[in-house]
Amino acid sequence: MSIEKELIKRSGSICELCSATENLKVYEVPPISTGGLDGSLLGCNNCIEQIDNAEATDENHWRCLNDSMWSEFKAVQAVAWRMLSRLRSKGWSQDLLDMLYLEEETLKWAEATGEGLDDSEKIIHTDVNGVILEAGDNVVLIKI
Ligand SMILES: [Zn+2]
Repeated sequence: MSIEKELIKRSGSICELCSATENLKVYEVPPISTGGLDGSLLGCNNCIEQIDNAEATDENHWRCLNDSMWSEFKAVQAVAWRMLSRLRSKGWSQDLLDMLYLEEETLKWAEATGEGLDDSEKIIHTDVNGVILEAGDNVVLIKI
């Protein structure tokens, strides 16, 4: 069975974050280490766009995490943690974050994108000229 079909079955054909029933697609939760079913969730366009674009984050939309953060699936837990961290300046979000318990491995995964950290706390990767590398930049490694 394809991952998409597995996810549709797992979720009951709804967005695993906000329960929307339309425009659903497979979202591979970055950084993709395992990928596959455990590394993915079924999300609606609305959720996925906001996950990928912090500036488009609509605070009220994410109150859905009140329910979905209790998902048994690690991909959903990790994304819930990230979005709550992004919004943690809002009281309600910090409250939920305080209640959300992730296993160590899942927490590491959730933290891996640096979500919720101030820029100064993020691990910044720079090239030899001190230019900050963004995801997607090509780096040529030279063996000396
Ligand atoms: Zn959604």
